[in-house]
Order: sequence, then C-alpha cells, then structure tokens
Amino acid sequence: MSLKLLFELSKAGSNKFALPEIDVPVTAPSCGRKSDLLLPELPEVEVMRHYAALARLVHGVEDGPYPLGSCTMKYNPKINEITASLDGFSQIHPLQPADTIDGCREVLSIMNSSLCGILGMDAVSFQPAAGAHGEMTSLLVMHKYLQSIGQSQRTKIIVPDSSHGTNPASAVAAGFEVVTIPSYSNGMVNMEALKAAVGDDTAAMMLTNPNTLGIFDKQIAEMAAVVHGAGALMYYDGANLNAIMGWSRPGDMGFDIVHVNLHKTFSTPHGGGGPGSGPIACKAFLKDFLPYTEVGYREASDAKKSIGKVKAFHGNFAVVVKALTYILTLGSDGLKDASGKAVLNANYLFSKIAALYDEEYRPCMHEFVVSASKAGEKWGVHALDIAKAMLDEGIHPPTIYFPLIVKEAMMFEPTETESKESIDALAETMRSIFATASTDAEALHAAPLHAYIARPDEVKAAKEMVVQWTVNS
Ligand SMILES: *Cc1c(COP(=O)(O)O)cnc(C)c1O
Repeated sequence: MSLKLLFELSKAGSNKFALPEIDVPVTAPSCGRKSDLLLPELPEVEVMRHYAALARLVHGVEDGPYPLGSCTMKYNPKINEITASLDGFSQIHPLQPADTIDGCREVLSIMNSSLCGILGMDAVSFQPAAGAHGEMTSLLVMHKYLQSIGQSQRTKIIVPDSSHGTNPASAVAAGFEVVTIPSYSNGMVNMEALKAAVGDDTAAMMLTNPNTLGIFDKQIAEMAAVVHGAGALMYYDGANLNAIMGWSRPGDMGFDIVHVNLHKTFSTPHGGGGPGSGPIACKAFLKDFLPYTEVGYREASDAKKSIGKVKAFHGNFAVVVKALTYILTLGSDGLKDASGKAVLNANYLFSKIAALYDEEYRPCMHEFVVSASKAGEKWGVHALDIAKAMLDEGIHPPTIYFPLIVKEAMMFEPTETESKESIDALAETMRSIFATASTDAEALHAAPLHAYIARPDEVKAAKEMVVQWTVNS
C-alpha cells in the first residue's frame, strides 16, 4: 500500500460545499495574496478515510501498551477533550477584551496555583510550547537574572551524563557552555566531580530527579547546597513528574526554576509533533524575569525585567485546559495515587523481566533501564531487534539506546494506566521474544513483519530530512 498526501488525492472541483453569499460590506482588503491559496479539494468522506487510514498505521496508547521511557505515554482521558472543546474555551480570540474571557483567565489562575502547589514554586509562565522550549526559556530567565545581579561571567551549565539530550542542547541554544559531569555506577551524580566543576563561572546545574535511569538521587539536598554555595542556580527538568506528584516537590529539593510537560504527566496527547505545553515555574526572586503576557494577571511594570515573549499570548491554551481537567478530575489524593501506581507498575514490570536481561535488581521510580548487551553477546540480537519484534506483538517498544551511559539500553515506563493483567501480558511477550532470540535470531533480525515502515535508515532520515512537499513534484 502506498499512502498519498491529501494534495496528491485532490481533484479540482470535487468539494462541492458552498459558503453563503456574503451579506455584509467587505471592509478588509484581501491579505495581499497574489494567487489563490493552494488547498486540496476532496469530498469530506475522502478526507476522513485518509486520516482514518493514517491512524491505523501508527501505534497509539489506545491500541496497546506504550512503555516508551522518558515519554510517559499514559492514557489520556477523553473528558479532557470535551472540556477543551467547550465554546467558551475554543471559540475565543486572543485579542478579545480581557473582561470577556474571565473564564479562561480563571483556568490560568487555577492552573497557576495548582502547578505552584505541585512543584513548590511561586510563579508560572504558560508560554513555552513544549519541554525543550521551557528549558530554553528558563535558561534565558536565569541568564537575565544573573545579569541583573552583576554575575554575567556565569556562562557554564552543569549537566550530569545521565541527562536528557535536550538539556545540553537547550543550554547551548541559550548561549551557555555545557560542562558534563559523570555519574557513579549506581546512577547518581558523582559528588566529587560536581564539587570540582562548580565555580564562579557556573550559572546553573540542570537536573532531573528521578533521573533518566529512573533513580531518585538522594544526594539532592547536598547537590543544591554545593551549587547554591557557589552562587549558581538549580534547574529542574520536570518533563516527567510521574514519579513525584504529591510525594516530593522540586521547590523543596532546592530547585529555583523548573519546566513541566503538560503533555506527559498531565495526560494531554503528544507524539506526532504536538501541540504540547511546557510551562515553567520559579521561585519568587525569578518571577519578574518570566516571559511577559499582555492578558492576565501581571502588571505592565513587570515587563521591564521580563525576558520578553517566547510565544504569542499564553502559549497553547487548550492544552492547559486539558491538563487542568486532569488535575481537577483526580484531585490531590488522586495525583498522589497516580504517581504511587506509576512507581509500583515500573517496579512490578522490572521484577518480572529483569532476569531476561541478567540485571541485578534495582528498585526504580516511574521507569527503569535494562541493558540488552548479553543478548547481543550470546545470540547477536540487539536492543533494536527486540524493539522491532515488540511491534509485531502489538506493543510499542521502550526507548532504546538512551540514556547513552548504558550499553544497549532499553528504557521502560509502563505508566499507572496499565493494569496488572496488561503488565503480566507485556512481561510474557518479552519472555517469548527472548526465547525466540535464543533459538532463532534470524527471526528477530527480520522483524517487524507487520509494520508499514519496518527498518528505515535512521541516519539518512535524520541527516537528509525532507519535510516539504513541492507542488507538481
Ligand atoms: C520529553 C523530555 C524533554 C523534552 O520535552 P519536549 O516536549 O519533547 O520538548 C526534556 N526532558 C525530559 C527528561 C523529557 O523526558
């Protein structure tokens, strides 16, 4: 089957809908367009079939388990979609007078206090469109703050070698220099290396806790003391709060600023490029440096110190409505329970499959990392082959080859929305894939047999990106 774009399926004149005759004077000039807007022309039913066909080609959490570590592919309750599409939230314009959108302002206000409560922070900006965007915005906030106190010589950002790849990338994008420090073999930050790395050129340390190995770094208070002692700031990568909601708070751990992915922890859909939402939250002393928005609660005088805007208005507002629906549906006890079950599910899955990987038992938080290197040595079967075989079994593979410090890494995050039966079945599937690996490695090298795209050349896909379709090509 070859899938065509809507533009390729388009037939001139085939969509016969008609807009009513205009019955008011035309006042706005055309937008200066020299030719007609190029839009595909298709009957509605063909458009629906196209999207339904696309949906059948991908694996979503509604098709089966999706234990993609560091991504929190939990089930997104449909009530979130219902609230986000209410007219009062969806049929509005950002330039409407503020007093006609009180309800929307209230959503932001309740979400603001909810996030401050969950994070132990004092102020929030909803502008960033996703996690990495939140990281960069936070780095700009820290930069402006350090400038304001005469500390512009602080140009270095410390990240542990277990960090998510976006952390060093954002630091560089924001104009900082990255200093990577090693971890101990138990996955925690090497304190001696941290102490040696900090100095009066350190701007901040970026950390996620639990880290990308799924391990809660118990040295956090000491780390914060070392970094603050050197006059630098603590940044929390809160893309994934699934292990800690209601149990511990970045603000209490000593962090000064944090970003959150509403599209992970707070059950709004992601994958396929968004829309996401990566609000940032900070302690009071950084508040004035947050991005400035016209509509809302902050006075115009705040704008003087602000880093400016990183996106129009309040960012992806509909995502905030969905996330707030989730928070209010669960309540504070429910959020705490969700985190507790996310950690329980990860430990349960780990206990069922760790032996396949010849791993020592290691209690984890909401996710865990195992290494498939033994399967490679014994049978020539690699993390990639195991992941591809999972696709044929109706399970999305875990994150593979990340974090980089673990060879042949496979990073599982089952999330709290999988039942015990579902995790048992997942573990059984892993057992049968490993059984096949030991007897018929070729079968795994040939996997997947049932995916639309089987084994693309990932290097080529990354290096020769074709993201445009040219008319008449
Ligand atoms: C997902 C993730 C990010 C990046 O978030 P995006 O919304 O994809 O930009 C950053 N850090 C961690 C730990 C993550 O899991």
